[in-house]
Amino acid sequence: MIPAPFDYEVADSVEHAVELLNAREDSKLLAGGHSLIPLLRLRIARPALLVDLGRLDSLRYVREADDRLAIGALTRHHDLQHDPLLQEHCPLVSHTAGLIGDPQVRHRGTIGGSLAHGDPASDLPAVLLALDAEFVVHGPDGERTVQAGEFFRAVFETALGPSDVLTEIRVRKQGPAGWSYVKFTRRAQDWATVGVAAVVRRSNGSIEEAAIALTNMGPTPVRARTAEDAFRSPGDVGAAAEVVAAESDPPSDTGGSSEYRRHLATVLTRRALGDAISK
Ligand code: FAD
Repeated sequence: MIPAPFDYEVADSVEHAVELLNAREDSKLLAGGHSLIPLLRLRIARPALLVDLGRLDSLRYVREADDRLAIGALTRHHDLQHDPLLQEHCPLVSHTAGLIGDPQVRHRGTIGGSLAHGDPASDLPAVLLALDAEFVVHGPDGERTVQAGEFFRAVFETALGPSDVLTEIRVRKQGPAGWSYVKFTRRAQDWATVGVAAVVRRSNGSIEEAAIALTNMGPTPVRARTAEDAFRSPGDVGAAAEVVAAESDPPSDTGGSSEYRRHLATVLTRRALGDAISK
């Protein structure tokens, strides 16, 4: 289908983008276009104005910032996958970016677009939740920082207001931690029916820290705290896998029933934790 008519402006700075968004109701940002353009074509989204961020190359970067990495919101999935700093300090992010869609999607789609879109089936939101990332947002009242745990509110709904621009994602360097992201897809190169992200830190043979987060197991990415607790004390992968769906509310749709998703989450948690502790 052909999108409904809209006006189009190119932002030449973050401030300009905020100004353009704020000046007109029903305006939307365009980044890589790989979630928004399909919605425009289906006329599910009918913004009056599109504000294109695509020329803001200053928002494409991965930098060291003390014990963290800072990632510009317009960094494309392909660049996350191949970035040497991420590969060294945050391999969970680069690995997961390489599992997104196909090469065309990875060359156009951006980390900021993936997070702002708020699709519970997207891969990076659960990974960034497991990593306790924080998101830098610019809006009409200036800059603020939102924790990943506060960012995702509902299906396609985040903490971003209508005139906000997500500009940067900050993640702690993983250090000597085991990690994994596994996703089950019905077709090659697809959204996850279910995905599981795991980060495990050990010290003197016992589990010091464990983070588990789930993709497509509810309206937002889900932090599986009960499973983290079950895993932390005895380091028992099976015990964690059995309770991993405790906080979740998986949908039933053409991808699978909620029972099927619960079963998948159990199987994938066993795999993800097994993989993480082997690293
Ligand atoms: P856009 O489509 O440009 O924007 C998406 C939304 O975010 C819009 O509402 C826009 O206004 C808003 N937005 C964008 N940038 C910002 C910003 N900086 N600040 C505030 N709001 C912003 N994703 C997966 O995770 N896993 C997959 O396996 C997967 N497979 C895919 C397969 C196909 C065929 C396609 C088309 C997409 C797939 N995707 C998948 C989605 C892909 O990763 C998208 O690129 C991503 O979700 C959106 O990023 P974008 O830059 O294209 O955003």
